Formats: sequence, C-alpha cells, structure tokens
Amino acid sequence: MTSLESQIKTRLDNVNNQIEVAARRVGRDPSEITLIAVTKTHGLDMIQAAVAAGLRQFGENRVEEARIKIDQSAGLLPEDVTWHMIGHIQSRKADDVASYFEWVHSVDRLKVARRLSAVFTATGRFGHILLEVNLSGETTKSGYQLSGWPDDTAQERTFIEDVGSIARLPGLQIEGLMTIAPLVSDSELARPVFRRMWQLRDHLADRFPACTWRHLSMGMSGDFQVAIEEQATMLRLGTALFGPRAQNL
Ligand SMILES: *Cc1c(COP(=O)(O)O)cnc(C)c1O
Repeated sequence: MTSLESQIKTRLDNVNNQIEVAARRVGRDPSEITLIAVTKTHGLDMIQAAVAAGLRQFGENRVEEARIKIDQSAGLLPEDVTWHMIGHIQSRKADDVASYFEWVHSVDRLKVARRLSAVFTATGRFGHILLEVNLSGETTKSGYQLSGWPDDTAQERTFIEDVGSIARLPGLQIEGLMTIAPLVSDSELARPVFRRMWQLRDHLADRFPACTWRHLSMGMSGDFQVAIEEQATMLRLGTALFGPRAQNL
C-alpha cells in the first residue's frame, strides 16, 4: 500500500466509525447511508488511492474539471465506480453533465432538468437526479429557494410546479433532495435545516407518491453526524477523507 492509500484508509476507517456511531444513536442501519467521496481539486492519483481504500462513489462540483478526470481515468478504475455531480449547473453545461455523470444532485431548474432528460434519453442511459433546495436563505447558494418553507406558499408553489414537470420527463428518476447546510462553527446549528429537509421530503412523498424520494443528500465533513441523525442517506465528504484542499472551492 502506498502512503497515500494508507492515509486515506485511516481516514476512511475513522469516518466509517463516526457514521456507525451516529446511525446507531438514532436507531438507523449504517448500511443505508452512502458515502460519496468528493474529489474536487484532487487528481487521478488521489482517486485511485481512494478506490484502493474501497471507495466507489465519487463527487465532483465542476463539470470542466470532472470531464478531464473522468476521461483520464478511462480503463483505470473499476466498472462499478459511479460519478455524482454535486455542484451548480450552468444551462449550457447541462449536456456534458448528462454525458459524464449517472447521478446529478444539483438540479434546481426545469430548464436544466429538460436538457439532462434529452441527453440521457438520446444516449440510451438513465439519470438519477436529486432536486437541490436552499432552506437557509443564504443568497450565494444555488438550489430552489425554499428559505420560507413551510410558511412561504409562493415559494412552495413554484417548486411544486417544477417537481410535477420534472417528474414527467423521460430518462430521469427523481430520487430525492439535496441541500448544502450553512457553514457554521457548531454543527448543531445546521440541525434545523436538516430537519426541515426530511419534513419537506415527507411532504413531497405525499404529493408525488410515484417518485421514490428515498434519498436525502446532506452532510459534509463538518456536519455529517448531525445530518445522519436527521435522516441523511447520502453524505458528500471531501476534507474528512482527503484532508484540506489547496484551494478553497
Ligand atoms: C466541496 C463540497 C462538499 C465536500 O465538502 P467537505 O467540507 O470538504 O466535506 C460537499 N458538497 C458540495 C456541494 C461541495 O461542493
């Protein structure tokens, strides 16, 4: 094992322990939680080391950066490696997103969903999508604006209309919701946002029973234990697995 591999293995063991402890605390089965390794800013060497440590789900937040890495990695990674797009999608990049990723966590406009649907359908593939919501009201964030949810009925109406349209698009399956919690010093402060996520999920499951709504993609390195306590099923972890990034992206 290279030193990079053993370093990642140590961090991964530690993360898996923390996932297990948090899950057991609230009576959940840790095996229902998917760990997505966020490799933004890191190169193929890091991805290969992560694969050697046992990771298979990878997340990237910029399509240009991901394209280069995914092309470079052709034939070098196991078949069961899965790529997740987790960053904001510009409409003109949506075609590339559908070409390179199987999971898209950051769908926040009908226009983007339509492009993804067209490309997945044309290439005979199938896209798993999550709808990104912004429950905290931080203006820098993307995602459907639902900062006033459940009280702001105008916000909810706009969102629900889009969900109805997206649910009918071919080549896509809505799998659930994604959010980025506010960056806070104490992860407990993120709990109200995570809690509103599962409440919103329950509300949508009532309104759109044909979609599975089985996933809540939430929880990053600083807050994933609290996210697990509030029903997260997909964690997106970068720093906890790979250490601090050179650039703050
Ligand atoms: C970078 C990033 C993460 C991972 O952040 P860490 O704090 O390093 O775990 C998760 N989600 C999104 C959308 C990101 O851009």
